[in-house]
Amino acid sequence: MKINLITLGCPKNIVDSEFIKGGLKTCGVEFVNEAKGAEAVIINTCGFIESAKEESIDTILQAVQLKKLGKIKNVYVTGCLSERYGTELRQEIPEVDGFYGNRDMHKIVAGLAQQLRLKYELVGEHPARAGLTPKHYAYLKISEGCEHPCTFCAIPGIRGNFRSTPIPDLVAQTERLAAHDVKELILVAQDTTQYGLDLNGKQQLPELLRALCRVDGIEWIRLMYAYPYHVQTAMLEVIAEEPKIVKYIDMPIQHISSRLLKRMARRVDRAFTENLLAQMRASIPELALRTSVIVGFPGETDEDFHELLDFVAEGNFERLGVFTYSPEENTPAWGLPNQIAEEIKRERYDLLMQTQQQVAAEWSAKQVGRRLPVLIDEYDAAAQAYRGRTAWDCPEIDHNVLLRALPPAKKSTAALVGAFCEVEVVAAQDYDLIAVPTRRPHSYSSPAPVQERGGIKYLLYQGQPVES
Ligand code: SF4
Repeated sequence: MKINLITLGCPKNIVDSEFIKGGLKTCGVEFVNEAKGAEAVIINTCGFIESAKEESIDTILQAVQLKKLGKIKNVYVTGCLSERYGTELRQEIPEVDGFYGNRDMHKIVAGLAQQLRLKYELVGEHPARAGLTPKHYAYLKISEGCEHPCTFCAIPGIRGNFRSTPIPDLVAQTERLAAHDVKELILVAQDTTQYGLDLNGKQQLPELLRALCRVDGIEWIRLMYAYPYHVQTAMLEVIAEEPKIVKYIDMPIQHISSRLLKRMARRVDRAFTENLLAQMRASIPELALRTSVIVGFPGETDEDFHELLDFVAEGNFERLGVFTYSPEENTPAWGLPNQIAEEIKRERYDLLMQTQQQVAAEWSAKQVGRRLPVLIDEYDAAAQAYRGRTAWDCPEIDHNVLLRALPPAKKSTAALVGAFCEVEVVAAQDYDLIAVPTRRPHSYSSPAPVQERGGIKYLLYQGQPVES
């Protein structure tokens, strides 16, 4: 049986899709990249803001259309949108054969398998996992759910109470990923810093990070979605001390105006945030900070917005994501007065992005002449060059390094994807860097292995000669 699995939304949803894919693969399902030729389409949806909901509904309707035309037999919907609006969706789109939420992956896979008339065996804590990201990196979901009171956010209602996965389970998952050649592990959750609090009343992120650093084969560990209120000194110490943990933290601050932070119920104010940022930078040399902010929250005045704009212009963040506020039902901010017009939100968004572009360009220019390790992500045929990332860049959302002067991709060099390469940065282009290798690509923790054949030295990567 061939199935087309479509994943929308964030990395946490990617992990869920990987369990759906892995679980159904154990029943003999083959996954294909297009609906064409597939028997069924599964759409793992996102539903936390308006644009995400629209995208999810459009995708479901397109699949339903294919079903009506007889091109596919079944359509199934999983994930956040159906968790949030299951009842409404069942009524509005009855052509969908099954709606599932996002709470228990074993149950979801078992339900899908039953509907598809497949035999699924519940083995272990989770279904088997089959990767959807490039082989060399993977997301590790360390906890699920959120109980914070942020007034704009629908996630607690969608993903449920906060619950952490115990350390031994996460280490076992990481060992399995490392055995499949994953080199970079990206820790995700709704709030990674709260990790463990529900297990024994103590935040255990430092212990978890230390345990993950001991897994052989994992070379970079990256922390996403830190929550300012929960950042601990012990966590910063571990990040500073452990060489495998990249000096990069994603910590959404949402705003800098104390007035707005209070309306958002973020439990911190400007002074707290500034002190925390100073402590983070003092504890971790060469830290790259990524944040995300919301513009157009109800009651955001020009003054509030300019406070945020100035804060970003000061270069407080190497990386930045901006969202326009989306009013969400069943959130406290839904009914707040002084909602902001969409065109003002858009103007604020554009202004903030332009400002950050300048900050990023200055940061990139400062890297010219430096020697840095880069993880090679792909071969860009149009640019005829490999693309990679520095340790200060998360896949998909951050910057790229274009690697000149490596041999073009062909069979023998395809193995360069997923290799580490030391480079010298020779130029900067806005967000991105241009670099040339100073050493041949290698496995990060061990020097590049070399094999001599007929008096010629070949560099080996994953057992293959890649360059003489
Ligand atoms: S911490 Fe994040 S997921 Fe939790 S309520 Fe706040 S914004 Fe939403």
